[in-house]
Amino acid sequence: MEKQIAFIIVLLISLGIFSYSAYRYYRFFKFTRPKKIGDWGKRIKMTIEIAFLQKKILRKRWVGLMHAMVWWGFLVILFGSIEMILDGIFGTEKILSFLGGFYDFMMATGDIFAPIIAIAVIAFLVRRLFMHIKRFYGPELRKIDKLDADFALTLILLLMLSLMGMNTYYQVWAQQTGNEILGYYPVTKHFAKWFMDIPTDVAYFRYQFNWWTHILLIFFFANILPYSKHFHVFMSVPNVFVSRIEPLGYIDNMENITKEVKMMLDPNAAFEEPDEGEEEQIERFGVKDVEDVTWVNYMNSLACTQCGRCVEVCPANITGKLLSPRKVMMDTRKRMKEKGPEMIKHGRDFDDGKALLGTYLTEEELWACTMCNACAQECPVNNHQPSVILDMRRYLVMEESKAPSGLNTVFANIENNGAPWQFSPEDRLLWAEGLDVPVMADVVAVGKKPEYLLWVGSAGAFDDRYKKVMRDFVKILNHLKTDYAVLGVEESDSGDVARRAGNEMLFQMQALTNIEVLNGYEVKKIITADPHDFNTLKNEYPDLGGKYEVMHHTQFLQKQISEGKLTISGGELEGKKITYHDPCYLGRANEEYEAPRKVIEALPVEMVEMKKHKSFAMCCGAGGAQMFKEAEKGEKEIFIDRTEQALETGADIICTACPFCMTMLTDGIKYKNKEEEVKNYDIAELVAISMGL
Ligand code: SF4
Ligand code: SF4
Repeated sequence: MEKQIAFIIVLLISLGIFSYSAYRYYRFFKFTRPKKIGDWGKRIKMTIEIAFLQKKILRKRWVGLMHAMVWWGFLVILFGSIEMILDGIFGTEKILSFLGGFYDFMMATGDIFAPIIAIAVIAFLVRRLFMHIKRFYGPELRKIDKLDADFALTLILLLMLSLMGMNTYYQVWAQQTGNEILGYYPVTKHFAKWFMDIPTDVAYFRYQFNWWTHILLIFFFANILPYSKHFHVFMSVPNVFVSRIEPLGYIDNMENITKEVKMMLDPNAAFEEPDEGEEEQIERFGVKDVEDVTWVNYMNSLACTQCGRCVEVCPANITGKLLSPRKVMMDTRKRMKEKGPEMIKHGRDFDDGKALLGTYLTEEELWACTMCNACAQECPVNNHQPSVILDMRRYLVMEESKAPSGLNTVFANIENNGAPWQFSPEDRLLWAEGLDVPVMADVVAVGKKPEYLLWVGSAGAFDDRYKKVMRDFVKILNHLKTDYAVLGVEESDSGDVARRAGNEMLFQMQALTNIEVLNGYEVKKIITADPHDFNTLKNEYPDLGGKYEVMHHTQFLQKQISEGKLTISGGELEGKKITYHDPCYLGRANEEYEAPRKVIEALPVEMVEMKKHKSFAMCCGAGGAQMFKEAEKGEKEIFIDRTEQALETGADIICTACPFCMTMLTDGIKYKNKEEEVKNYDIAELVAISMGL
C-alpha cells in the first residue's frame, strides 16, 4: 500500500510538471501563422515510413541502423513501461501477463533490445566524446547543447541498465520464492543464473531498487525532455505527421499575393469582399520574426534533434559559408522561447527591438542558400528548412526591397524583358534560326493542336551554351516526327528564379501570364529541358490554375528509347567514360534519377558515378537564384567543389541535364584547366551526337 501511495504521488507530480511544460509550448503556437494540412492517408503512410520504419535515418546504413535500433527498442520497451505504471497504481505484479503469448513476446523483445540500446548508446557517447565528427560541432552549438546531448544519452544508458537489472533480479527472486516467472527474458535469464545464491531479501531489494530507479528515470527523463534537444523523442512522430507531403522542390503559394497580382493584371477582376464588420487583416509578407512562421515551422523547430545531418550535406556550409540549416531551426526555437513569454504577457504586437531575421539570422546566411533541398532530404524528422529561409527572403525582398544587387537586375530584366538577361522578348525564337521549329500560334491557326508544348525556358532561348542544347533536342524531336510546337515570343520566363529569390510578386505575375497563354492554347503536355522550369510548371503552376502533364527532356528521351522509337548507334562517343551530375530540381526535388541514367546506359559509353550521386548528389551551386549573384564569402565556391568530385571519377565527359548545372560545371572545368581533357555535355547533346544529328 505504501508503495502504491508513493508511486501515485510521484506519478501525479511528474504528470503535473510535464503538463505545465507542454502547456507552455502549446501557448506559443497561438502566435504562429495558420497552415492547412490535409491528405491524411498520405500522412499516415509518411509517418509509418519515416517515423516508425526510420526510412531517412537508414540512408546512412550503419549509424542509421544503430539509431533505428534504439528507436525500435524504445517502442517495444514502452509496453513494459506502461505495465510498470499500471502495476504502480494498482499495486500489482506484472498486470499485463494475462496477455499470455503476446506478453511473453513483448517482454522477450524488450529484454533483447535493452542491451542492444545500451551498446548503441555507449557507441554514440564514444563518437560524441572522442571522435571529432564534424556535424556535432558548429558555432550554433553551445557547450550546454553538447552537454545536454551527452546527459540525455547517459540517462538512456541508465534506463537500459536498470531495466536489465530489474529483469535479472525479478527472475532471481521469483525462482527463489517458487513464484512463476511471468514473461520470457532470453537475455537476462542468463544473468539471473549468476545471482541465484544471494539471499532472497537482497534479491527482492535489488529487484525493487531497479524497478524504482527505472520508473523514476522515466519520469525524470520525460520532464527534462521539453527543455532538452531530446524533446524530439516526443515531437518527432507528430512532427513527421504534420510535415510536408509535397515534392521537395515545391514552394507554398502566397494567396495574399495572388489576389494582389490578379488585381494588377485585371483591375476589373471580382473578389469576395470581407463580411461586414470584418476587417481585412493586413499581413506582413514573408517572415521577419518568429510570429510570422507557420505552426508547422515552429513544430519543426521543436522536433529538431540538432543532429547536424542537414549541416553535413549543405553545400553552402561545406564550402565555408555562414549558413547552417540546423541553426535556422535552432534559432526559430530559441527566438520563440525568448519572445513567446513576452507575447503572452503583452500581446502579439510586443516588440523588444529584436527579430529572428537580423538578431538571430543574418542576411548573409539567408542569401547563401542554393535551395538545393539536401538538408530537407536528410532531416530524420522531415523538417523543411529551405521554406523558412525562403520566407525570410520574401520579407527582405517584398517588405524591405533588400536583395543582392545582381538579383535586383534580374528582377528588372524579368519584369521588362521576360528573361533574367537583358534581351529583347522579340528575340526569344532566334535560337531556332535555320531549324524547322513549329510555333504554336501558326500551328493553331491552321486548325491543328500539337500533342506537346516544348517549353524552351529563358536559358534555352538566350544562353549561348544552352541554345545549342535546345537545337540538338529539337533535331531529335524532328527526327522522331514528334507532334510539338513552341510558344516562341509568347513564352516568358517561368518565374522560378524570382520566386526562389523571394520576389513572389514577380513570380506570380510571370506564372499567371504564362498560364493564360498556355490555357488559351489548351496545352495538356509540356516537355522542357530545364529542371527548374520543370519543377515550377509541374508543382507550382497548378496552385495558380495551370495544370499540365510536364516531362523533363530526359524522361521524354527515355520513353522514346524504351518504346523502341529512338535507337542510338554510338559514333564518336564509343568507349568514353561518362559521369552524370544530378540536377537538384530533377533529382531531389522531383525524385527523377533513373530516366537520365537509362538514356546514358543506352549510349555505347562507360558510366561512372560520383561518390555523391542520386539523392546524395551535391548541388552545383547555381540554384536558389545563386546563378545571378555573387557567392557569399567562404572557403571555396560550390561549383569548384562539385567539379572536383566529378573530375575524381576520371570521366572524359561530365554530363548533366540542366542549363544552370551546365554553366557551373563548364566554369568548374575551366577553373581546373581541364577543358582539353574533359568535356561537358547535356544528355540531349550526347543523344544527338550518337545519332549523328
Ligand atoms: S537548401 Fe541546400 S543550401 Fe539551403 S540550407 Fe538546405 S542544404 Fe543548405
Ligand atoms: S533540422 Fe533535421 S537534420 Fe537538421 S539538425 Fe535538426 S533534426 Fe537534424
